[in-house]
Amino acid sequence: DRLTVLVTGGAGYIGSHAVLALRDAGWPVAVVDNLVTGFRWAVPEDVAFYEGDIADSALVAKIIEEQNIGAIMHFAGSVVVPESVENPLKYYDNNSAKSRSLIESAVNGDVKHFIFSSTAATYGIPDVSPVSEDTPQKPINPYGMSKLMTEHMLRDVSAAHDMNFCALRYFNVAGADPEGRTGQSTVGATHLIKIAVEAALGKRESVAVFGTDYDTPDGTGVRDYIHVFDLAAAHVLALEALIDEPQQNHLLNCGYGQGFSVLEVLDAVDRVTNLKLNRIMEARRAGDPDSLISDNSAIMRSFPWQPKYADLDQIVTHALAWERKLGEIQG
Ligand code: UDP
Repeated sequence: DRLTVLVTGGAGYIGSHAVLALRDAGWPVAVVDNLVTGFRWAVPEDVAFYEGDIADSALVAKIIEEQNIGAIMHFAGSVVVPESVENPLKYYDNNSAKSRSLIESAVNGDVKHFIFSSTAATYGIPDVSPVSEDTPQKPINPYGMSKLMTEHMLRDVSAAHDMNFCALRYFNVAGADPEGRTGQSTVGATHLIKIAVEAALGKRESVAVFGTDYDTPDGTGVRDYIHVFDLAAAHVLALEALIDEPQQNHLLNCGYGQGFSVLEVLDAVDRVTNLKLNRIMEARRAGDPDSLISDNSAIMRSFPWQPKYADLDQIVTHALAWERKLGEIQG
């Protein structure tokens, strides 16, 4: 029998795509989410859903027992970088302390495999491009540090207990389920592609371009945008790899190894929508690196990962379709 996977934060953006990817691949799934930023409707009706906190160890023990959980995919957490600077203790609680509690529940419940949502923010402002996994991790904000602390906990716990883990370090996640079942629904999201499709649908007047004097070909920031569908697929492969080789851990970048500038992203939105977005050139945002591109050779070597939506226009098309649908859902 296939083990059941517990997805924390399964009602959130990336977690809800992972739930669909697991279900589509035939894995039994259960979700725990406190619904602080997630949405109950983002989880399919036929998936066991528990509303609550990952640090509620009685609840997590009950779920592990009731659902026969054999692996955990851990997405629950806080993700807003400027907020982490204003309120670091929230991040050390939600991302570090609560992860510690969840990992303890996993060990106590004899869960053998743990997959963790990490981030390129653990690298800070790297001096190399593309960024490989052995680039020194020097976060420049509490968000990145709170995620890095959890990577370290997993490394130490996996050495001491019968559990292996995979930490996936995401670059810039964007897009939505190609079938329109879920997408980025976070209220007040600050991510470029989300903001640009909101503008394309008239939900905002313009798009600010933060910085035009970066050391990049057109002067605007360059990022490695990864389609959330491909990212979710990587998690399913991570699960399979952890089960196949129980002694092996993985720490892997998740990106396509290609970069697009802010202006190139806005051009793609213009192309897809046949509009001309109103662009306002503004000053740099604090803490933004010029360019952040993954060296993805390790994940390509480790997993049979075949990205399907590495095309920027495709990412924008799906993000736009979801943004339209979200308008209907939210009324
Ligand atoms: N950006 C921008 N305008 C916006 C939002 C973002 O110019 O309204 C830029 C930002 O400075 C960076 C890139 O777009 O160069 C991606 O930013 P985002 O916030 O999406 O992700 P980050 O790379 O900060 O995690």
